[in-house]
Amino acid sequence: MTLSFQEIRQKALDGILLTRQEALAVLRLSDAELPDLLDTAYVLRKAHKGNTVGIHVLTNARSGVCDQDCVYCAQGRASSSPIERYSFADPKIFLDHARAGARLGIARHCIGLSGIRLDDALVDRLCRQVERLKEEMRTPVCCSLGFLRPGQARRLREAGVDRINHNLNTGRNFYPRICTSHSYDDRVRNIRMLQEAGFEICSGGIAGLGEDHGDLADMFLDLANLRPHSVPVNFFLPLAGTPLASRDVRGLTPEYCLKVLCLARLLLPGADLRCAAGREVYLKDAQPLLFRVADTVFASGYLTADGDSVERTIRQIQDAGFDYRLE
Ligand code: SF4
Repeated sequence: MTLSFQEIRQKALDGILLTRQEALAVLRLSDAELPDLLDTAYVLRKAHKGNTVGIHVLTNARSGVCDQDCVYCAQGRASSSPIERYSFADPKIFLDHARAGARLGIARHCIGLSGIRLDDALVDRLCRQVERLKEEMRTPVCCSLGFLRPGQARRLREAGVDRINHNLNTGRNFYPRICTSHSYDDRVRNIRMLQEAGFEICSGGIAGLGEDHGDLADMFLDLANLRPHSVPVNFFLPLAGTPLASRDVRGLTPEYCLKVLCLARLLLPGADLRCAAGREVYLKDAQPLLFRVADTVFASGYLTADGDSVERTIRQIQDAGFDYRLE
C-alpha cells in the first residue's frame, strides 16, 4: 500500500502519533517532496514553539576516562582519539562558560560528564558546582551523566539540576552494533527512574551510525512514548581514533538530515527539538531551513568536536528570520 503524504501530514497536524510505516514513509520521501514536509513541520514548530531559537552551550566536565565501548564516541575504551582526558573540569571553566553564555543570553547550560557510573564524591562535586552556577545566574542547567542511582538523582535535583540528558542514541535492534557494555533497555530504565525523580528529560540520538530507516523510526517512536522535554538530534561525525572513524557518511545529505529533523518534529511536536552535532558539517547552506523545524541548537562545539560560535549562531538565526531566545 502506498502511503499518501497528505494523509500523513493531516494525521501529524491533528496530533495523532504516526505509525512505524508512516514514519518510514517520511524518511523515504523524495527530495521533491521535502518542501511540503518542511511546511508541515513548520506549522507544528510555530504552533508549539513560535519563531524563536534557543541557544545552548555545553561544558565537558569530565572527558575521556570512560570504560564503555560505544563505537562512535571518542571518550570510551574503544577509542584512541587524541582528546583531552580529565576526571573533573576546573570549576573556573564552568563559571567562565556560564558567565559568557549568560552575557550573550543563552537559553540553557548543558554539562556533560563522560562515563556511565559516577561515584558519590563526584556527584557531590557536581552538586556544589551546580549550586554555584544557580546562585550566580538563573540559567537552567541540564546534565548528561550516564546511569544514576536514585539517591544521586535526588541530590542533583536538590542542587538545582532541571533536566538530565540521557540519549537512546539509536533504535533498539541496532543498539548492540554500537555498544555491548550496556543495553538499550538499561537506557530506557534510567530515563524512567529519572522521570520518577522529577527531572525533565532530554533524550535523542544520532543519525548516520549505519542504522537503517527502520532503526531511526523505532528510536523516534520510542522517544515519542517516553515524552522527553527535549530531543537532541545529532548527525554522526566520524572522529579519528574511534572504531567508526572511516564510516561512510555520504548518506547524510542536507535533504536527508532535514527529513530526519522533520520526522522528529512530526512525532514529538511539542518537544524542544535540538539540532545538535553535525549541523555545521552536513546542513551547510541549508542551515537556515533547519530553524523551520528545530527550535534549539548548540553553539561553541560538542564535547569532542568543534562547532560554530555563539555569535555566528545568533547571526545565522537572525538571517533566517528567527529570533534567538533569551531565557
Ligand atoms: S557515549 Fe558515554 S558511555 Fe559511551 S563511551 Fe562515550 S562517554 Fe562512555
